[in-house]
Amino acid sequence: MNENENEAYNYDTSIVYEYKEFPDKEAGVCDNCGNKHFKSSVKNYKFTRECRNCGLKKNI
Ligand SMILES: [Zn+2]
Repeated sequence: MNENENEAYNYDTSIVYEYKEFPDKEAGVCDNCGNKHFKSSVKNYKFTRECRNCGLKKNI
């Protein structure tokens, strides 16, 4: 049997991930959808990056 190695992780866009725990597979590219456009915001001195396409959020 051939087993495909699939490391895709199902991200939940309703929570904010920590970049330390979930670093980008490819820097600057959304892990969830592959989009390269983000909007960023600063909250409580934390820099949050949100994907403009799927809404995946990470604290940087
Ligand atoms: Zn995305």
